[in-house]
Amino acid sequence: PAGDGILSVNNIEVIYDHVILVLKGVSLTVPKGGIVALLGANGAGKTTTLKAISNLLHAERGEVTKGSIQFKDDRVDQLSPNELVRRGCIQVMEGRHCFGHLSIEENLLTGAFTRRDGWAAVKRDMEKVYDYFPRLRQRKNSQAGYTSGGEQQMCAIGRAMMSKPSMILLDEPSMGLAPQVVEEIFEIVRELNTKEGVSFLLAEQNTNIALRYATYGYIMETGRIVMDGEAAALRENEDVKEFYLGVG
Ligand code: ATP
Repeated sequence: PAGDGILSVNNIEVIYDHVILVLKGVSLTVPKGGIVALLGANGAGKTTTLKAISNLLHAERGEVTKGSIQFKDDRVDQLSPNELVRRGCIQVMEGRHCFGHLSIEENLLTGAFTRRDGWAAVKRDMEKVYDYFPRLRQRKNSQAGYTSGGEQQMCAIGRAMMSKPSMILLDEPSMGLAPQVVEEIFEIVRELNTKEGVSFLLAEQNTNIALRYATYGYIMETGRIVMDGEAAALRENEDVKEFYLGVG
């Protein structure tokens, strides 16, 4: 994609359990201020790619064995996940990881854990999150585990916003949600992108919606990028139409 990269992944290889080669040389770039979609079927390696960037593979016995990852001007492949968050890159996990027993507002507060700029600033940003997600304001005292799937996804994104990120890695935001709710969430992603300047790398199986909101897309198959291009061009590509958009 055109423009200066905020994130670049250079030819990474990931192995699980010392033997299972899952990423076989993946490279991608997210331009500063871009929304880039990482597409592909279930099992193609999208989640593994995001976790490799966030350095979250160790818990699953996964390891980046080749390649490098750069965020802003630094190599980040050896950083802890928390340090990466402090530098402005945060992942929103698949399955909308909220703390079910905490209220929506308490969940948002947990997102501020890396900040050192004081309560007043945190409180101000929480109001800002509520402005973007009016549904979260309405539900702020509800226990997150009892809110709807869409509200939990919003809570997970809102929680990420509380770390003041410049980049969000968003894993499968559409999963299990009604089309209208998915649309609502992507509209907010677009707003966060245009108004707050947050760059996004979003992993999606829902190619159709992802290519309507993204500027650029990469398509993965079995651990490799097999195609990439401007979102508008991918939408018109015959192979993409046939295999990923469900129209012949
Ligand atoms: P999904 O949409 O289901 O998240 P994905 O494209 O994100 O799919 P990954 O979850 O990254 O795909 O999985 C890629 C491959 O790695 C799959 O074949 C999967 O079985 C394998 N895999 C994932 N996690 C592990 C693990 N902890 N140990 C071994 N293999 C794994």
